[in-house]
Amino acid sequence: MEIRVRFAPSPTGPLHIGGARSALFNYLWARNNKGTFIVRSEDTDLERSSRESEHNILEALRWLNIQWDEGIEVGGELGPYRQTDRLALYREYTKKLLDGGHAYYCYCSEEELDRERQALIAKGETPRYLGKCRYLTAQQRAVLETEGRKPVVRFRVPEAQAIHINDQVRGDIVFDSDGIGDYVLVKSDGIPTYNFAVVVDDVTMKITHVIRGEEHLSNTPRQVLIYQALGLPVPEFAHVSLILNTEGGKMSKRDGDTAVLDYQKKGYLPEAIVNFIAMLGWAPSGEEEFYTLDELAEVFSLDRVSKSPAVFDLQKLNYINAHYIKAAAPERLAELALPYVGEMGILPRGERSDKQQQWFIGFIEAIQEKISHMAEVKDFVHYFYGAVPLEPVGEALEVLRGEQVPGVLRLFGEKIQEVELLSGATVKVLLKQMTKELKLGGKLVYMPVRVALTGQMHGPELYDVIPLLGRENVLKRLEVTEKRYLG
Ligand code: GLU
Repeated sequence: MEIRVRFAPSPTGPLHIGGARSALFNYLWARNNKGTFIVRSEDTDLERSSRESEHNILEALRWLNIQWDEGIEVGGELGPYRQTDRLALYREYTKKLLDGGHAYYCYCSEEELDRERQALIAKGETPRYLGKCRYLTAQQRAVLETEGRKPVVRFRVPEAQAIHINDQVRGDIVFDSDGIGDYVLVKSDGIPTYNFAVVVDDVTMKITHVIRGEEHLSNTPRQVLIYQALGLPVPEFAHVSLILNTEGGKMSKRDGDTAVLDYQKKGYLPEAIVNFIAMLGWAPSGEEEFYTLDELAEVFSLDRVSKSPAVFDLQKLNYINAHYIKAAAPERLAELALPYVGEMGILPRGERSDKQQQWFIGFIEAIQEKISHMAEVKDFVHYFYGAVPLEPVGEALEVLRGEQVPGVLRLFGEKIQEVELLSGATVKVLLKQMTKELKLGGKLVYMPVRVALTGQMHGPELYDVIPLLGRENVLKRLEVTEKRYLG
């Protein structure tokens, strides 16, 4: 049997980490089984849905390289793939359910329903529809229609039935149909509800596995009842755990961004996000932590999806991202870094001469091992760019007070002027020579040079900093320091 899975977001906001994980698990399961992955849109909430959100969701999926075989923008034989374009189909299925006696028209007003709800709550019972319109005769209906009441269509929930769901993650779960009131399939404006439309879509798109968030578990018995009423086979379900923060609470902005494209804006790499979200609720069998999308597709299986909540740990994400940054080509990182340095007025329009490009690549290579996401390049620019160092404070300032410092800086300035080619290798030699000539320990030479040039005691290698700053800026920075502190 061909495996067919789907991701069916409601386009009421940007794609969040949880949604991306559902999409990814479906994608991986499809790839793992040489199946088909479908992306469609559940846009029946007319007020909250927008094309803008849909666009954001698709954009985020593309950025993560989660490609779909059928669906929105891609097309396919079982479309259309937006629910608002499928209303005729839902009407067809509504008729089937009505004709089969599995559904009925309900004319209860909001006020009546509200009264019923309140009364049940007062008695300590679960609020649900008690079936007032269940057995209306054609005549009673006609009267209500002439009153101008617009009906909804409700599902006739069978009484005293155990509804079994064999969840691939959670095992066998049983619901009692008596706890479920007759629920709405089609609203009075003719728009289907989620529980109905999703079944029609899954049926008509021949979905074999429904992999989605745990928050939909309570909807599942309602959906299963519709399959049964239609006499159709129920797909396999796999409900993936919630994603919580490191304190076990609901994830909020404080724990990290929730919108996927915010990570793009911050300069995270898509392969790192994919690797990270794959581990939110799924674990490989071995110790290896780093997986590409293709490798994940190779090893992914539903039986390693966990029942317990997944923990969103931003530090873990940063750790994974740092790994991929280290491994990435500097040219690619340079392109990603452009917007951030652009904000600082460096290569603002992205255009660069060969020489600037060379500098830029050198800069990226020098810091590639030190950053966990690209926005951090901004913290490193000051080491490599411009004629003025940061102002040293505290211990760094103390370093400049050493009695050997004026001599060290003078000799360093001379050597910088003399050296023909300012490269990492020549800088290394030059600093070595200085320790010999001045008969000083390395630290007494390197530290004042570092502080004089950068204002900091720590930072990227001097062998990287000095050539990238260039002779002119090195001499200017020396001059600034000498004037400020040694004058
Ligand atoms: N539109 C639902 C959501 O975004 C999809 C639920 C499902 O996959 O059945 O959560």
